[in-house]
Amino acid sequence: MSDRRVRVRFAPSPTGPLHMGGVRTALYNYLFAKKLGGDFLLRIEDTDQTRFVPGAEQYIVDALAWCGISPDEGIGVNGQIADHGPHAPYRQSDRKPLYRAFADQLLAAGHAYYAFDTPEELEAVRERSKSAGNPNWQYNSITRTSMKNSLTLPEDEVARRLDAGDAYVIRVKMPRNEEVKFEDRIRGWVSVNTLNLDDKVLLKGDGMPTYHLANVVDDHLMEITHVIRGEEWLPSAPLHVLLYRFFGWEQPEFAHLPLLLRPDGNGKLSKRDGDRLGFPVFPLNWANAETGETASGYRERGFYPEGFVNMLAFLGWNPGTNQEIFSLDELIEAFSIDKVHKAGARFDFEKAKWFNQQHLRQRSPEVLAAEYQAGVAAAFGAAVDTDFAAKALTLFLDRSEFISDAVHAAPYLFAKPAEYDSVMVGKKWTSESAGHLRSLVPLWAASNYSEPALEEAFKAFLTETGLGFGAVGPVVRLAVAGTTQGPSIFGVMELLGRSECEARIEKAIATLG
Ligand code: GLU
Repeated sequence: MSDRRVRVRFAPSPTGPLHMGGVRTALYNYLFAKKLGGDFLLRIEDTDQTRFVPGAEQYIVDALAWCGISPDEGIGVNGQIADHGPHAPYRQSDRKPLYRAFADQLLAAGHAYYAFDTPEELEAVRERSKSAGNPNWQYNSITRTSMKNSLTLPEDEVARRLDAGDAYVIRVKMPRNEEVKFEDRIRGWVSVNTLNLDDKVLLKGDGMPTYHLANVVDDHLMEITHVIRGEEWLPSAPLHVLLYRFFGWEQPEFAHLPLLLRPDGNGKLSKRDGDRLGFPVFPLNWANAETGETASGYRERGFYPEGFVNMLAFLGWNPGTNQEIFSLDELIEAFSIDKVHKAGARFDFEKAKWFNQQHLRQRSPEVLAAEYQAGVAAAFGAAVDTDFAAKALTLFLDRSEFISDAVHAAPYLFAKPAEYDSVMVGKKWTSESAGHLRSLVPLWAASNYSEPALEEAFKAFLTETGLGFGAVGPVVRLAVAGTTQGPSIFGVMELLGRSECEARIEKAIATLG
């Protein structure tokens, strides 16, 4: 195993938008492969056609591309929906014809058998078992002896049924009472007795393989060395281990990742939790054209992919140092599958925003200014130059987790106040306020209208009149911005410029008296 080139895959089923837990699985696979100089593949597991959702595959490819997780092979290389690599096709429905031979191999070796039971017969058995007090009937090494299959029917009857084209499935023949053991990279030794495993269907009547057969066959053919996937697949792993053994193939290493838990730690993080608590659980917005179902995404919420990826990396792993802020390349450098936690990872949206904020602060002033300009144009239809953007960011960035926070913090930068905070007007605007403002206007006009000069002139005015800041400061804020909240009002005034400030002061006096 150790001399094989490391190859891992992310193998989602296109059944809807990719949950952030799925993105984390892709991320850990990617980090693992890149750290070891190996390959990361994207394979689409769409054998269950009843659960296929149009647009889901595109969504998976777009989500990974947004995160900067680029497959070396498979679907989605360079963000394209196309097969790429020596093992094409990489979409299992396109690989349908090749699985039958593998099912036949198992049949020939006695590790699988034909089962002819109709859905109605299976349903009836389940019902009977239920009324007898066992609601979890399984097709297994015990019950199969009383079912309609190639183990119970006479050989000529089986042949007759196959010739006649009777409907059948191919099931795995579970050994009876055998310990299946394997060492999971995260969970350690896992041991399951086959008495607890059922005779899973491997190939369906329509010739389509089930997940189990297709997954194992493809991992083998695609030379996958490590299977890194969510904990929900742990119960399937013993069957997969057995299939490798039946085929005589080298088994990949397994690593089952901890679940993403709700913020309160009670159960798996679901879309419903996100809706209820007001955060996305998907990377991108999603809309299903057929059902009208929609979901909101981190991208549209204003997250940077860097912040989102950094946050995801820490849901179930940490480097064992104090460093928390990582670029994707630094994550590759620091990542180790052996440091992934066993316990479920509790999701915390406040922490997610904090990660974004850290990445916001790491961006260059030029990039931030450009993002601010774009945000202002989109939100207020206003065009501001780079100097304005840079200055506004010195005022508003500190309080922002997202660039959009800075954009929306001060709509009054782009329009005169339409109204004035009436509570604060009641408290702070007196019969003398207009007079104070009228005295300040020429003092400010004589300055260069920079933030320090405006402040200095204001302080000189207070000294001269003996007035306190609280008597005039809020009045200036109300007149210029309509609110008493915000960063330095002199910074705001510098941004607005003299004539705009004077016009606003006139308007406030005219409105408030
Ligand atoms: N198709 C499975 C899924 O949707 C893949 C599980 C695995 O990685 O083996 O998650």
